[in-house]
Amino acid sequence: MTDMQQPSLRVAHLVKQYANADKPVLNDISFEVPHGKVFVIVGPSGSGKSTLLRTIAGLEPIQGGTISLNGEVIETGRPGTESAGRSKRSSALRTRVGMVFQSYDLFPNKTVLGNITLAPTLVQKRDKTEVEKEAVALLERVGLVDRKDSWPHELSGGQRQRVAICRALILHPEVLLFDEVTAALDPEMVREVLDVMLELADQGQTMLIVTHEMQFARAIADQVILLEDGGIVEQSDDAERFFTHPRTERARQFLRTFE
Ligand code: ADP
Ligand code: MG
Repeated sequence: MTDMQQPSLRVAHLVKQYANADKPVLNDISFEVPHGKVFVIVGPSGSGKSTLLRTIAGLEPIQGGTISLNGEVIETGRPGTESAGRSKRSSALRTRVGMVFQSYDLFPNKTVLGNITLAPTLVQKRDKTEVEKEAVALLERVGLVDRKDSWPHELSGGQRQRVAICRALILHPEVLLFDEVTAALDPEMVREVLDVMLELADQGQTMLIVTHEMQFARAIADQVILLEDGGIVEQSDDAERFFTHPRTERARQFLRTFE
C-alpha cells in the first residue's frame, strides 16, 4: 500500500565506492522524491549520475546509507561489497523501481510485444493474455501499437526508447528512472521521447530523471539537484527557481554552459 505520508523514494547518506577506487564515487547523498513528483538530476559528465540511478535500481550494491521506498528500507549499505556487482535485492523488490537507459537495450531476438511482456510473465508470473492486453494499451499510449510485431532492428532510436519506456511501465514501478534517454538519439527523435515523459509526469508517475536537455528539465522538473564529484552541490524543492535563480556560483556556471 502506498503511504502518502512517506516519500515515494528516500535516499539517505548513500555511499558508493567501486572496487579498486581510492575514494567513493558517491559520498553522503541524501534526497527525497515525493509521490507523483518529477525529480531531476543534472551535473557534469563523470559526476556520478548514472551510478546513482543504478544503485537505486538495484544494479549496484552500496557501501553506506539506505534506499527506501514508501518508508520501507529496500537497500542498506554494506562495507566490503565494492566488487559485488549487483545488489542482493530480490527480483520482486527490483521490479518496484523501473529504469530506462541511454542505450536502447531491447532484447534483439524478441519482438516489440515480446520485449514488453517478458518480465511480467517470467518474473511476476502474471497471466500472458492479460499482460499482452496491457502491453498493447501501453503501445497505444506511446503511438506504437502498429509496431507490436516488429523487431528492434526495424525501429528507429526514438521508437526503441518508447518501447523501453513501455517495458518499464508494465511492471508498475513505484518510481521510474531515466538515464539520459535521449542522449544517443538523432535530434528529430528527441521530441517524441520527451513528449511521452511529459505525459507520464502529467499522469502522476513518480520519476527520477537524469538529463542534459536543460529546456526539458526546466519544463518537467518539480525538484532538482546538481551533482558534482559524487556530492550534491545544490538542491532545490523549487525547480523553476533553480533554473532562473540558482543559489550557488557553481550552479550558475553549470547552467551558463547550456545557454
Ligand atoms: P555520470 O553518469 O555522471 O557521467 P558515472 O556514474 O557514469 O557518471 O561515473 C562516475 C564515476 O564513476 C566516473 O569517474 C566513472 O569513471 C566511475 N565509474 C562508473 N562506472 C564504473 C565502474 N563500473 N567501475 C569503476 N568505476 C566506474
Ligand atoms: Mg551517465
